Amino acid sequence: MIADPNEKPRNGIGVDDLPDGKPSARELLLAASVFHHSPQGIMITDAERRIRMVNAAFTQITGWREAEVLGRRDAMLSAGRDDPGLGKQMQSALDADGIWVGELWSRRRDGEVFPENRTVVAVHDEAGHLQHYFSMFTDISAEKFAAERIHRLAHFDATTELPNRVLLQDRLLHTINQAARVNGKLALLFLDLDGFKLINDTYGHSAGDEVLRLVGKRLLSRLRKADIVARIGGDEFAVVLSDVAQDSDVQITCDQLLQVITEPYELSGNLSSVTTSVGIAMFPDDGRDVPTLLKHADAAMYQAKEAGKNRYAFYEPEMNRRAEARLALSRKLRGALEKNQFSLCYQPQFDLSSGRLVGVEALLRWQDDDGEQVPPSLFIPVAEECGLIMALGAWVLNEACRQAQQWCEQGLAFGRLSVNVSGRQFQDEGLADTVAAALAASGLASDRLELEITESWVMEGPYRAENQMHRLNEMGVTLVIDDFGLANSSMAYLKRFPVQKLKIDNSFIRDIPADTDDSAIVSAIIAMGHSLGLRVLAEGVETAEQSAFLRATGCDEVQGYLFGRPVRHDEMNVLLLYSPTLSSS
Ligand code: C2E
Ligand code: MG
Ligand code: MG
Repeated sequence: MIADPNEKPRNGIGVDDLPDGKPSARELLLAASVFHHSPQGIMITDAERRIRMVNAAFTQITGWREAEVLGRRDAMLSAGRDDPGLGKQMQSALDADGIWVGELWSRRRDGEVFPENRTVVAVHDEAGHLQHYFSMFTDISAEKFAAERIHRLAHFDATTELPNRVLLQDRLLHTINQAARVNGKLALLFLDLDGFKLINDTYGHSAGDEVLRLVGKRLLSRLRKADIVARIGGDEFAVVLSDVAQDSDVQITCDQLLQVITEPYELSGNLSSVTTSVGIAMFPDDGRDVPTLLKHADAAMYQAKEAGKNRYAFYEPEMNRRAEARLALSRKLRGALEKNQFSLCYQPQFDLSSGRLVGVEALLRWQDDDGEQVPPSLFIPVAEECGLIMALGAWVLNEACRQAQQWCEQGLAFGRLSVNVSGRQFQDEGLADTVAAALAASGLASDRLELEITESWVMEGPYRAENQMHRLNEMGVTLVIDDFGLANSSMAYLKRFPVQKLKIDNSFIRDIPADTDDSAIVSAIIAMGHSLGLRVLAEGVETAEQSAFLRATGCDEVQGYLFGRPVRHDEMNVLLLYSPTLSSS
């Protein structure tokens, strides 16, 4: 087929597009002025894409002057960052429609890369032959970077530059869909750092941020490219392991993650450490959607913390029931103080060598709305979690001091009053004031009061705890480490802390003397306590054999069902009237 020279070109702009085929001089002048003054960069090339003409805005945007670019191909502007297929796409659009509009990455004369919005038009002559390409472009870096910044702020954590919770949920959904398509498995890991608060308190927030950044890097260093690491809260991270073959793969990865987090962190010249507790929920076994997996990984993480931290736990349905029970409990707890549902019991403590009563421990009791007794091992952790422990702890101090002072006024000898104090109270700067207020209000002498703090809490925040301990000691209050032996106390701390007594945790007492390991541990704690100048009390003594063993190993004091169960204040009144001794109890 022979082409008709009068036929309008198939595409692009042809000379026939002009009203009478030829532009007038006025029109040409107008076009030249538009070309020159256009705020858009304009570049005209020949059919081989060699640059023939550029305008002032071109020079302003790219930094290239006309003389430097004439005769060169327009590809010289490319930053080489576009999708490989883009050039072909552009050409076929130009061939088919005569126009292409899109975004390109270009490079300025000084090397800087910038995004531009470009329109390219193919220009044909009267015969329909391709003559020129006419390109107009705008530098869109400002808009693009602003949009990117907004996207980053909304989807990434500024400190660690890791995806945030929003993006995690997005990516998790995507990974779930992929896994579902191939009947695959994936694991969602919830990580919560143990002892991070201590780093923030001790070294300041910028050191804390540094630890978070390092944790993020270390996690990434142990994972595959396809896995996801996100920071989803203060000291909480999440990891998605895609394409999991079996649970044991997850275990191996978790072991590596625990290990890499434990390695020391250098903070302004000091070596510091944190550990992490990990909860694991598997798709599809533990949940098929994002909210369920998140909830179950969180419940499993809570169990890992409960079980002693620095470990991982796989989700089990039982955990969910427990999490729901905790929530229900915290709702009930909130009104309990106002409703006067709390009371105190007292359990006697005896000196093993003299047999004399040396103290009573106040133990909190809660009777809930339904008249049920809820054990403190259940509600104290919930009260700690929801913050109620501060008010509740203050109530216990006031009530115990008041009741003990009553005994003093009745001339009943009870030795010392021992009150359990939660670690949360210890970490609050106001504890010494609360204690002073309870003593002042009741009139109880400060040397009659002893505070028990569990070992794990002391080790969680040793510096803060130390401050409080000194203040309390100066007031004349005695300090005891409760549940000793369960956590990894550092000897250095024990020596440094102003404590006067250790209470061996009852789990070590239960099987003595038959269990040789426990017997050895108990003897060692007693010897170590004595070498540090501390008195040692064994709690949970239930049998005469246990008592005999403790006496033989030099334990100073005992407490347990064998000598007296916790009883109400009025019952204790009666007991005290008879000045109980070990032999009489
Ligand atoms: P704890 O301070 O170690 O208290 C000793 C626990 O052992 C008490 O349990 C006590 O009743 C129990 N016990 C005493 N003798 C024996 C025995 O011979 N055998 C056995 N098996 N157990 C014995 P309780 O009253 O259920 O308290 C549990 C924990 O709750 C306490 O452990 C303490 O950590 C916490 N707690 C109790 N009252 C308070 C309080 O007022 N404030 C705080 N923060 N915690 C409290
Ligand atoms: Mg105690
Ligand atoms: Mg204890």
